[in-house]
Amino acid sequence: MTKILFSLAILLFLGNYPYNMNAQNASKIAIAIHGGASNIKKMNLSPEEEAAYLSTLSEALDSGYVILQNGGNSMDAVTAAVRVMEDSPLFNAGRGAVIAHDGGIEMDAAIMDGATLQCGAVAGVRTVKNPIMAAKKVMESKEFVFLAGAGADEYASENGVEIVDTAYFYTPFRREQWEKARKKKGTELDNDSRGGIQPINELEIEKFGTVGCVALDAKGNLAAATSTGGLVNKRFQRIGDSPLIGAGTYADNQTCAVSCTGRGEDFIRLVVAHEIASKMRYGGFSLRSAANQTILQDLKNAGGRGGCIAMDCNGKIAMPFTTSGMFRGKISPNGKKSVAIYKTKD
Ligand code: ASP
Repeated sequence: MTKILFSLAILLFLGNYPYNMNAQNASKIAIAIHGGASNIKKMNLSPEEEAAYLSTLSEALDSGYVILQNGGNSMDAVTAAVRVMEDSPLFNAGRGAVIAHDGGIEMDAAIMDGATLQCGAVAGVRTVKNPIMAAKKVMESKEFVFLAGAGADEYASENGVEIVDTAYFYTPFRREQWEKARKKKGTELDNDSRGGIQPINELEIEKFGTVGCVALDAKGNLAAATSTGGLVNKRFQRIGDSPLIGAGTYADNQTCAVSCTGRGEDFIRLVVAHEIASKMRYGGFSLRSAANQTILQDLKNAGGRGGCIAMDCNGKIAMPFTTSGMFRGKISPNGKKSVAIYKTKD
C-alpha cells in the first residue's frame, strides 16, 4: 500500500513537472516603455509632477504586463501600454500631443509585429483619439502599411477607431507651450525648456515626449509601438521618425524590438531602429552593445539627440539615451519592475 502511494506521489510530481516548466517559460515575458527623452532634470519637475509621471508610467507598464501574464500577445500588450500614455495629458502623444507652428495638431504612430513583420503606421492624424489604434487598423488591412493626413483619419473612423473633436487635444499646458514656442525660431523637444531650462543653442530647444513600448510574450514574439505629436512648433505636415518603420519603430523576432524618441530627423538619417537590429543580425552584437553603439556613438556623433528602448527575444532590455533624462519603465523577465526619469540613479 505504502509503495503504491509512494509511486502515485512520484507520478503526480512528474506529472506536474512539465506544467511547472511551462509556467517558467510563460514567465519569460517582459515589457519596456518610454515617455520621451529630453533635457528634463530633477530640479525642473515638482515632486507632484514627478509623482504623476512615475505613476502614469507604472500604470502603462501594468496595463501591458497583465496582458502578457494572462497569455496575451505582445501586439496587444504594446497597444495597451501606449494607449495609457496617449490618454494622459502628460506625454506628447494622443491627448497631450504638442501643437504645430500653424496651431494644428498632427499625430504620428506606428506598430510592428516581430513574428510576422506585419506593420502599420499613420502620419498627421488630427482627430484620432488613440493614433496607435489607427496604426493597428492600417496594419490589419494587409492592403497598405502607411496612411497619412485626412485619408488616415478617415480610414480610422471607417474602421471603428474612436474619433474626437480637436478641442480634446488643446490642453492649457500645450497652448501655453505653443504660445511661447511659436515666437521662437525652430522646433522643440517636449520638456526641454520646462522649468526655465535655457536651450544651449537654437537647435537645442527641441522637446521630445513621444511614447513607445516594446514587449515579449510567452510565445517568444516581440512587438514595438510608438506614438507622438512630433516636435513642438514643427512645420505643418512635417513627419518625424516615429511612424517610419525602421527609423523610429521596428520589431523582428530574429533580433529585437525597438521604439525611439528624439529629434526625428537624425533617427531617419541613421535608420536607427533597423540599425540596432542590423548590428545584431549581421554584426553579432548583443542587444545592449547594438543599442548603446547606435544611440550613444553613431547618433551622438551625427549630432543627434534622444534615446530608445530595445528588447531581444530573451527579454533583455536596453534603454540608452543621450539627453539628461528619459521617461521610462520596464518589467524584466524576472518580474522586477522599475520606472525612472533622470540619467543618474533616481
Ligand atoms: N521623434 C519624435 C519626432 O521627431 C519626437 C519625440 O521623440 O518626441 O517627431
